[in-house]
Amino acid sequence: MAVLTSRGCPFDCSWCSKPTFGRSFRQHSPERVLRELQLLQQRYRVDYVRFCDDVFGIQRAWLESLLDAMEAAHLHIGFECLARVDLLKADLLKRMRGLGLARVYVGVESGSQKMLDLMNRGTRLAQVERAAQSLRENGIRQFWFLMLGYPGETVEDIDATLRLFRRFSPEEYSVSIAVPIPGTRFYDSVRQYLKVGVRPRRANRGGKTLLYEGSYPESLYHWAQARFEWEAALSKARGKIAPRILSGLSDAADRLDRSLVGPILLGPRAIPGGAPRHLRPTPGPTAERPSTGA
Ligand code: SF4
Repeated sequence: MAVLTSRGCPFDCSWCSKPTFGRSFRQHSPERVLRELQLLQQRYRVDYVRFCDDVFGIQRAWLESLLDAMEAAHLHIGFECLARVDLLKADLLKRMRGLGLARVYVGVESGSQKMLDLMNRGTRLAQVERAAQSLRENGIRQFWFLMLGYPGETVEDIDATLRLFRRFSPEEYSVSIAVPIPGTRFYDSVRQYLKVGVRPRRANRGGKTLLYEGSYPESLYHWAQARFEWEAALSKARGKIAPRILSGLSDAADRLDRSLVGPILLGPRAIPGGAPRHLRPTPGPTAERPSTGA
């Protein structure tokens, strides 16, 4: 059951489309949210909800009040939410786990700080690492959103994302090729390089289409997506196959990438040092962080 506690988001990621609310943000009171949860549980026997806010619990004080209210009302209900790594503090996660938090969707996006900055994401890799570690320690499932092909990304940045993915092995993930949406700074930066007549394709685990003339051919991103799939499969096999064999299989994929598939797919499109100048957007104007009380 979906529950919405707020509308809008004050952050300013360069690729995020926010035609309705812009950067405005407003939310229900914690008391109102509690009443809604109680109603769902008592009248409709709902025992699990998904907080589908763009970002759940943006203001720490608001979230603490909601948790206080849930605790005081002895409300036991499973829940999941979308959140940013910079808001997922260890103490908060522990408390939320105790109140029913089972899964968090997190926009990790990239394992390269350079890419996070180009996206104006406003997050640090250290925050990703701390959040992933805390989620794991608290037994909360993590679903990572990852993005490939954003302007300025090199194969080294893709490798950094894969290494991060390997380190933390999220239970679920989606790895998409970046989609420039009209009205965003990302779109403006590539609009004159859009491929004519190309429509987005989707597969189970994310977007499959490169919609503009990017740094590399689309097939390279498909190969990268396959490498994530491979790592996820190896991670699922932990406990069933000896670690030495799993690590060997992971290394074999790396060798295949370095010695054969990577060079073939890159071919003459290999761009030493990164994307051409026209694909290097400057970070957005607002690297400042909205106040969250965190
Ligand atoms: S955190 Fe970034 S991607 Fe998420 S809703 Fe806000 S601006 Fe969009």
